[in-house]
Amino acid sequence: MKTIKVSLYYPANTVAKPITYKLVKDYDLQINILHADISLNKVGKLVIDITGTEWNIEAGLKFIEDQGIKYKLFTKTIIWQEDSCVHCGACTAVCPSGALSMDKKEWTLTFDKEKCMVCELCVKACPLNVMCVSI
Ligand code: SF4
Ligand code: SF4
Repeated sequence: MKTIKVSLYYPANTVAKPITYKLVKDYDLQINILHADISLNKVGKLVIDITGTEWNIEAGLKFIEDQGIKYKLFTKTIIWQEDSCVHCGACTAVCPSGALSMDKKEWTLTFDKEKCMVCELCVKACPLNVMCVSI
């Protein structure tokens, strides 16, 4: 079993297709939706984690492509250099996925890597360059 992170780009005429349902039902994949920007008759974007066997993931990605939907695999990850962080919270204001949040009791930053979409907005927002990209 492995997990990959993927962005799906839906042309307007494909947004009504039950893609994630099919991936679960027909390809035995676990889908975790991290971000969705889908409206009827508009181009859409979905960011998902896909977990399954190598074979099922490959087959699922081929199915996505066959539906006319383009996908892009995430190859980068975000590194939080925790020791240098001053927990100012500036990065949480730009994080679209909720991966970065402040613990309201301790007033410390928490980073949930699973939710990260690698948009890199926090890298630009951090005044101390604590967040960086690893390829
Ligand atoms: S902006 Fe930088 S220093 Fe401030 S909480 Fe985020 S990672 Fe830490
Ligand atoms: S790259 Fe930074 S801002 Fe973007 S989702 Fe990940 S943690 Fe949030």
